[in-house]
Amino acid sequence: RRVENEKKRTVDNLRSPVVCVLGHVDTGKTKILDKLRRTHVQDGEAGGITQQIGATNVPIDAIKEAAKFVKGFTELAVRVPGLLLIDTPGHESFSNLRSRGSSVCDIAILVVDIMHGLEPQTLESIKLLKAKNTPFIVALNKIDRIYDWQPNAKRDVRDDVKGQSKLAMNEYTKRTNDVIVQFAEQGLNVALFYKNPDPNEYMSMVPTSAATGEGMGNLMALIVEYSQSMLTKRLMYSNELQATVLEVKAIPGLGTTIDVILINGALREGDTLILAGTEGPIVTQIRSLLTPQPMKELRVKNTYIEYKEIKGSIGVKIAAKDLEKAIAGLNVSVACQPDEVEFCRSEVAHELKSALSSIRLQ
Ligand code: GDP
Repeated sequence: RRVENEKKRTVDNLRSPVVCVLGHVDTGKTKILDKLRRTHVQDGEAGGITQQIGATNVPIDAIKEAAKFVKGFTELAVRVPGLLLIDTPGHESFSNLRSRGSSVCDIAILVVDIMHGLEPQTLESIKLLKAKNTPFIVALNKIDRIYDWQPNAKRDVRDDVKGQSKLAMNEYTKRTNDVIVQFAEQGLNVALFYKNPDPNEYMSMVPTSAATGEGMGNLMALIVEYSQSMLTKRLMYSNELQATVLEVKAIPGLGTTIDVILINGALREGDTLILAGTEGPIVTQIRSLLTPQPMKELRVKNTYIEYKEIKGSIGVKIAAKDLEKAIAGLNVSVACQPDEVEFCRSEVAHELKSALSSIRLQ
């Protein structure tokens, strides 16, 4: 079956890239994530608290709207259906989110505070990204803190930068160059995205401010462009199920649920799930497949959208019996035939064993 599924993958059917946010504490990771997640909410409408299920899907239409000032983006033939943002920033979620041994993160945003440059946890993040071979885009954040900076979020950040006073421009240029040198000291070529001579060799850096919103559209546009040009092979949708448990959570009215990141393949109501539990593999039927209401409909509180079938990549909450002892961070399997249950059980048990031994080694 794997071979069959492999054959069906095409460049015309891409899944959303999974995006993680990394960087030193206080650089603005959470604020950037909030901005990106709320792109499709009209100003002033975003008051409520969203049902978070570990990963937020930002559909391509919302990205296009947020990136409408970005030169060249509207003309780009967009082929990814959106971006799937991992809700928890930081290295822990990056390292814990593994599937079949590799990181589930397709591309990362590495946040650097332009006023501070590379800091200890930036270096740690770089190490992790290098080890997993994960491409990244640098958000050079907090540009609004540069002396005499005049923010204008409603334009391409390139024009925003150009429109600054000489004083602000000098500081911006100096700080940016310092960061480029610091990356070079780590053996990495980075360049401002509008000066990037070769995306194969240089990672792009985009000036941003999560406070004013400057550069957010450019950041999204860059992730989409990079994903489409450099990650197509990885992002070709596959029917082969690839899903990992992000979190095990008790929800009033639903019981214990699992939040799953479904990368490839589909899940259906009634499917037989097999996943790792503290007392051995759990076999259970999917009772409901749920996603949070889109942010536009935040007024509708505490309700989810229910699906008969859902396809990757997306974050989905699964309600089912017997999930109390489920373990986060490991794969979920589905048995299509009753005789596959045993096979899946042994696979799950094997995975749990190897995960435990790798934890012991660390
Ligand atoms: P994290 O620890 O990396 O997640 O950082 P946070 O997102 O919590 O941000 C740390 C602090 O910096 C908060 O007080 C934010 O409001 C502030 N902050 C984040 N981004 C910006 C920015 O672009 N400009 C300014 N001036 N402040 C920012």
